Amino acid sequence: MAYKYDTQNIFAKILRGEIPCDKVLETEHSLAFNDISPQAPVHVLVIPKGPYVCFDHFASSASDQEIADFSRAISEVCRIKGVSADSGNGYRMISNAGPDGVQEVPHLHFHILGGRRIGRMIQPG
Ligand code: 5GP
Repeated sequence: MAYKYDTQNIFAKILRGEIPCDKVLETEHSLAFNDISPQAPVHVLVIPKGPYVCFDHFASSASDQEIADFSRAISEVCRIKGVSADSGNGYRMISNAGPDGVQEVPHLHFHILGGRRIGRMIQPG
């Protein structure tokens, strides 16, 4: 089954500058911004600029440069927000994919959650 990217999804609109975001970091291939409905004191979304639906789409289709940039952007966000497990108290990173993953926005994003104990890894429902 081919991945179908919806160019009208909300993160595509943020990337095109059609709607604003509270930017944390921008690199050549990635963008990070605060979640509009934060679930923790630190709740940042990190997205690639390319049109990838979810992580397995990205990992199988993106260039090595995009993948490296995205990885480094996540690390830099952890440093900026003070949640790195090296110098801070750590974080949880989540990337939902598809219906069973309960993915709301169909553009790859990683949630970086921290600033408090995040609790159980998986909740029912
Ligand atoms: P998902 O369920 O797809 O993994 O998460 C989507 C996330 O995007 C949610 O945490 C939601 O709060 C966030 N979100 C949805 N619309 C916007 C928006 O317009 N701006 C920002 N900054 N976050 C959004």
